[in-house]
Amino acid sequence: MQFCEDCGSMMTPQDGEMVCGSCGATTSKDDERAAQFVSTDEQTDDDLVESSEDANFEGKPTATDVRCDDCGHGEAWYTIKQTASADEPPTRFFKCVDCGHRWRGYN
Ligand SMILES: [Zn+2]
Ligand SMILES: [Zn+2]
Repeated sequence: MQFCEDCGSMMTPQDGEMVCGSCGATTSKDDERAAQFVSTDEQTDDDLVESSEDANFEGKPTATDVRCDDCGHGEAWYTIKQTASADEPPTRFFKCVDCGHRWRGYN
């Protein structure tokens, strides 16, 4: 027999977890929280991967030796990201200061 931690009433099994018949508290709360933490960590990793290409360009240095494919503007913010392999040149991510078009280039 199990009693509710919140109100002390008797718990009854329901859908694979113990549920308080008085206040509705369940014993699976902590398990659900732990599961949510795991999934949140996974989502954070995904965000980090995506943010490398979706970086905040405003305030970054601008390159003027480029031309926007979209509007032909000759100035774009850029960030440089070194790829995992040192043999490969770093990748430059551009964002047009005029229309916001994004593209990537290689040095
Ligand atoms: Zn209760
Ligand atoms: Zn543009």
